[in-house]
Amino acid sequence: MSRILVLNCGSSSVKWRLFDGPDTVGKGLVERVGTGGPADHDAALSEIMSAADLSGLAAVGHRVVHGGDRFSAPTLVTDEVFAAVRDLVPLAPLHNPANLTGIEVARRLLPGVPQVAIFDTAFHRTMPAWARAYAIDTSVAGKWGIQRYGFHGTSHAYVSRRTAALLDRPVEHTNVITLHLGNGASACAVAGGHSLITSMGMSPLEGLVMGTRSGDIDPTIIFHLRRVGGLGVDEIDDLLNRRSGLMGLAGDNDMREIEARRDAGDEAATLAFDVYCQRVKGYVGAYAALLGRVDAVTFTAGVGENSAPVREACLAGLDPFGIAVDPDRNAARGGERVISPDGARVAVCVIPTDEELEIATQTRTVLATT
Ligand code: AMP
Repeated sequence: MSRILVLNCGSSSVKWRLFDGPDTVGKGLVERVGTGGPADHDAALSEIMSAADLSGLAAVGHRVVHGGDRFSAPTLVTDEVFAAVRDLVPLAPLHNPANLTGIEVARRLLPGVPQVAIFDTAFHRTMPAWARAYAIDTSVAGKWGIQRYGFHGTSHAYVSRRTAALLDRPVEHTNVITLHLGNGASACAVAGGHSLITSMGMSPLEGLVMGTRSGDIDPTIIFHLRRVGGLGVDEIDDLLNRRSGLMGLAGDNDMREIEARRDAGDEAATLAFDVYCQRVKGYVGAYAALLGRVDAVTFTAGVGENSAPVREACLAGLDPFGIAVDPDRNAARGGERVISPDGARVAVCVIPTDEELEIATQTRTVLATT
C-alpha cells in the first residue's frame, strides 16, 4: 500500500498525479469538465480511475484552497471535516466548492480509501497575530472571518525546505524569502521553517501583481468604481481578479509575451514588467526588515523558475542588503540552483516547486499518525 493519488480539482478541470513512494507513476489533466469534456466531476474521476493503476492505493491527497482558521495541518477527511470545509465556502467561493466536489466523489468512488485534505492556508497558520490582523474594527473582522490567511502554502513550505537542503543548512536556522511567481503570485517570509508573513491575505487577491489579479490596491478604488463608476460588486470582483495585473496593464497575462514586447520597445509591456518587478522588490525589502536576517531569497513557479530578466529586475540594486544575482548563473537553466555570486551574504536560489509531491508527502505523514 504505497501509492498516493493526488487530486487538484478546479471548477472545470482535475489535475492528478499518482505516486509510488517518491516516484510519479502516472499523471494527467482532465479539462473542460461540464463544458464539452466529461459531463461532471464524477465522470472526470471515473476517467482518471480507468487511466491510473490504483492497485495498492494507500490514500488520496486533495488540494483544498481555504482551511480558514480551523485547519493548520493536513487532515484526514471525516464527515465532520467535510462539513467544516463546506462552512468555509463563503471565504473561497471560487475554489473550495470544486475541492469539495473532488473529495465527495473520491469518497464515493473509492470507499474505504483514506482521503486527506491539504490546505493552501495551513502553512501560514504560524503567522503571528500582527501578520494576520487587518487594522479594522476587530468586532467587524471577527464577525465576518476577516483576517489574513495566506495561500500557496504547500509551495512555500516545499520550496523553503528545499532551499535549506540545497544550502546544506538546518531548516530551523534558515530564514528564507520565497517568491512564488506563477500565474498567481505570492511572497513569504519563512523564519526557521515557519511562515512569518505572506503577501496574499484573506483571499489570493492581495499582494504581488499577478497574471490577471491586481494585488495590492487602495480599497478606495472599489468604493470609487461602485459609487462614481456605477459598477456592480461582481463586475469589480471580475475586474480585479481576471482583468487586472499583467493582463490589465498590457492586455496579456503571460510573462513570456510581456518580455518579448518589452524587448521590442512596447510601452505598456514595459510598464507592466516594471510594476510587477518593483512590487516584488518592495516585498523583498519589507520581508528582509521583518525577518531581521535573510539567508536566502528563492524564486519558484512558472515565472520565477524560468524568467532570468524578472529575477534580475526584482533584485537589482539590492547589493547594500547583501542580495545580488550573478548574470551567468541567472542566465543558465537547470533544476535546483544557486544564482548569487560566490561569497554573497544572501544566497539567491531557484527551486522548481512541486506542490503535488508536497501534497503526497503530507498525505503520508497523516497516514503515519492515524
Ligand atoms: P504557473 O502558474 O506556475 O504554472 O506559471 C505560469 C506562468 O509562468 C505563465 O503564465 C507564464 O507567464 C510564466 N512562464 C512560463 N515560462 C516562462 C518563461 N520562460 N519566461 C517567462 N515567464 C514564463
